[in-house]
Amino acid sequence: MSQTCVFVYSEQFLQYKFHDDHPFNQLRVKMTYDLLCTLGALEDRQIVAPRMATDDELALIHDRSYIEAVKAAGRGELSEAAAQNYGLGTEDTPIFPNMHEASALLVGSTLTAVDAVLSGAAEHALNLGGGLHHGFRGKASGFCVYNDSAVAIQYIREKYGLRVLYVDTDAHHGDGVQWAFYDDPNVCTFSIHETGRYLFPGTGNVNERGLGAGYGYSFNIPVDAFTEDESWIAAYTTALREIADFFRPDVIVTQNGVDAHYYDPLTHLSVTMKTYRAIPKLAHEIAHEYCGGRWIAVGGGGYDIWRVVPRAWALLWLEMTGQADVSGPLPDEWRERWQPLSPVALPLEWDDPDDLYPPIPRKAEISEKNAQTVEKALYFIRSQRRAGT
Ligand SMILES: [Zn+2]
Repeated sequence: MSQTCVFVYSEQFLQYKFHDDHPFNQLRVKMTYDLLCTLGALEDRQIVAPRMATDDELALIHDRSYIEAVKAAGRGELSEAAAQNYGLGTEDTPIFPNMHEASALLVGSTLTAVDAVLSGAAEHALNLGGGLHHGFRGKASGFCVYNDSAVAIQYIREKYGLRVLYVDTDAHHGDGVQWAFYDDPNVCTFSIHETGRYLFPGTGNVNERGLGAGYGYSFNIPVDAFTEDESWIAAYTTALREIADFFRPDVIVTQNGVDAHYYDPLTHLSVTMKTYRAIPKLAHEIAHEYCGGRWIAVGGGGYDIWRVVPRAWALLWLEMTGQADVSGPLPDEWRERWQPLSPVALPLEWDDPDDLYPPIPRKAEISEKNAQTVEKALYFIRSQRRAGT
């Protein structure tokens, strides 16, 4: 399989850093990059340096006053009252020096990925620095300053005129992207996440289906806490297949937060590497089936940066480049390099052991509930199909 793939990367991704104790840590991108290099799975010619997003590009989604506020915050010139208005300086999204530049680079990285694919230079592109799906038009939220995916999708709409399917498999609802395109029938958003009953941001209910002309183009599958691989993968597979068949996208943008893993400290789901093999595999199939291969993938959440993120994100790139048959032990060299920095033992193998956690007693009940949620989420598609439209 000879596919042209682009890996957008720069050490400068690490400048998006709130403080030393903050759970959002871009070291995970460097660890993934290093794992792929150690494996010999990333060629120099595939690596592309990102560019900064311009103010005009950011303004495709964000309010100008917000962009100015982020700039001022990064220079230490934003008043506390003003900061509060813009969701800046909170516990989740603290102010840090040069935050505008660091955030605009992550947006530019996703735009770099978009241009690589839509110019025809590459078939697929990956920007693990992106995926900041909680950023709003005029407000920072949930570790996210600018919303790279929302900016990128609006950029695709305006520059290329293509219909976009956005698929968000982060454990948290992809709220910022959903609301940005809630009334737009040319952008279909699908988010599968842990129910918002107990988890940030609280939205992503199955009844959030879009607005006006965009009604029926927003899909949400809030799964129950403690959902395991089998049920998660079944929900994702059924939903993505039916949504893609209904919407028939020109291009697919996937957000690959990997915080649904059992080890993730911020969420309550119980999936393993099995899920992180299944997600890109199906996205890849859909890209070829409907989009002539056009697939842009970004990162997202993922807070066990030692045991989960590098493996899961490496598997995403390996799937993209047709090398996903890797299994067995991780490279010793990589483990030896990173183990001294890690507070926990790094995993020995690509896949998680079957006994990663004790059996979950409510498994059947949870699976049944999730199946009902899928049914509700796809109700309109299925009823239209029955009506023969
Ligand atoms: Zn998340």
